[in-house]
Amino acid sequence: MGVRTGLSTLVKVTVVSAAGLPQAARMLSELLDLVAPERCVGCARRSLWCEDCRSALTRARWVSRAGVPLVTPAAASPVMMRAIAQWKDAHYRQLSEVLADLLLPELVAEFDSRPLNVVLIPSRKKSLHTRGYQPMVDVVEKLARKSDGQFQLATRVLAWRVQPTEQRQLDDVRRERNVAGRMAADRLPSGQLLLLDDVVTSGATIREALRALTDAGVRPVGIAALAVPRNNLGQDFVKSVAKPRLRI
Ligand SMILES: [Zn+2]
Repeated sequence: MGVRTGLSTLVKVTVVSAAGLPQAARMLSELLDLVAPERCVGCARRSLWCEDCRSALTRARWVSRAGVPLVTPAAASPVMMRAIAQWKDAHYRQLSEVLADLLLPELVAEFDSRPLNVVLIPSRKKSLHTRGYQPMVDVVEKLARKSDGQFQLATRVLAWRVQPTEQRQLDDVRRERNVAGRMAADRLPSGQLLLLDDVVTSGATIREALRALTDAGVRPVGIAALAVPRNNLGQDFVKSVAKPRLRI
């Protein structure tokens, strides 16, 4: 009884102070997420990422002008973009599992049972340092397990010869200049390659990765991305690199 009273007092005090101070409420919410982060990124229900929100994602596929298909489970999805931001920047690592679950059926639909070496876009040194972990490596390790090894991580194939600067604030032309000619490919595995990036925005980084791999004598059989944001549909990436092939 004493414990209950103590708990309800604690809750009451917390609620009152949260109601009084919006900042405190935000901090409380962030604290709750740390303690019990299993809240849906779409609707905040108590579920890691609820079925309703997952099935609401808009799927899309493109093929590049060079004939390399681009597969993504989530074009035009604010929920997906929010999830990716939390997963990368707020270290919401549980989402790696969900993201692998979303990507795997898209990959199997496109590439059937072909074994593929997954090549990642190299992280910038700064982001590696600040995050302390590599979210995309997490996803590929989960893909490898879920596919019984059909998709394998090919490590350190691509590297930055010259580190690009942070490009979130750059427009498409500056993004292109920021990365062009700066990547190198090495340690090429035998077998077919799949290029994987988290979010394809302008397409500049993907183009540079394709260039580096092609210069090294390998053309990937496909590109995969966790998301292509809505504001890029019909803009530079699609116009200059790819055209819509199929929308589901
Ligand atoms: Zn939901």
